[in-house]
Amino acid sequence: MKYYIAVDIGATNTRIALGSERGIIDRVSYRTPRKGDEYTIAEKIYNVIMERYRNEIGSVEAIGIGTIGPLDVERGRVVNTPNLPIHSFELRRPLMEKLNKPVYVLNDAVAAVWGEKYFGHGRNYENLLYITISTGVGGGVIVNNHLLLGKMGNAHEVGHIVVEYDSDIPCGCGGYGHWEAYAGGGNIPRTSRILAEKHWRGGETEAYKTAIMGELTPPQLFKYYRSGDPFAKYVVEKIIKATIAGLASAINTYDPELVTIGGSIYLYNQDIFKKRIIEGIMDHLVTDPPLIETTPLGGDIVLYGALAVAINPPRELLEIQK
Ligand SMILES: [Zn+2]
Repeated sequence: MKYYIAVDIGATNTRIALGSERGIIDRVSYRTPRKGDEYTIAEKIYNVIMERYRNEIGSVEAIGIGTIGPLDVERGRVVNTPNLPIHSFELRRPLMEKLNKPVYVLNDAVAAVWGEKYFGHGRNYENLLYITISTGVGGGVIVNNHLLLGKMGNAHEVGHIVVEYDSDIPCGCGGYGHWEAYAGGGNIPRTSRILAEKHWRGGETEAYKTAIMGELTPPQLFKYYRSGDPFAKYVVEKIIKATIAGLASAINTYDPELVTIGGSIYLYNQDIFKKRIIEGIMDHLVTDPPLIETTPLGGDIVLYGALAVAINPPRELLEIQK
């Protein structure tokens, strides 16, 4: 049997799976190292693979990695990520040297769209957009069966689409009024505080008081929203409108037949988002509306994406990661 190894490097956890063409067979998860040098993360991945898959490693054909970015895709290296204390680290070169097998590295949302095409809803589509609404907002795009990469592998950074051009709401990237500034879970406490301090004209609700302290996290925001808190409704309305603007812009740019959406903020709150955004984008589209679905791969989509990249590396990637 031919095996493949898939790696999903997140800001909090790293997940490693053994898989085949049929899917994931076994998996293991651990905290992504926060201390060390630019080789620590690759060394930990190597050690976990050798510990857990010692018996199978001889039959492993290739390793696929989906990682938090930004990425230098030619070198297979993460550069200046704001989400980890080890800001820049090597992946592809040390793992290829140690394992003596092909290693492919992609941005997590880009790997995810490849997973959607191979294991998810995307099998029969040539034009496919995957959107994640999680700690950040990101995307992966396939146009006419080509995976879009960009000069450094960071094409389709849809989370930084400007959805409000005169905004005073900062994004983690340093810009203002970006889709991710409103909808990215990592930004929600700060954005809610600015909305409470500068924009909200209502009373001091429970959600408002939490927001003023900078402590309105995504789970609390949606809990208050469901209990009818007016300030929470005001914030969620901003997130929905930012998502309508960002998603409509991405659809107008890439012209997909199918859009799948995932990420924890969306997956846990589909009842709040799905109908509103499907209706809301219609006023903004210049192209025929695509089918919009929730990804069937859920929280595993990056892992499936990394597995799909190992099994069937996109030719656009093979041209630069030889
Ligand atoms: Zn941004």
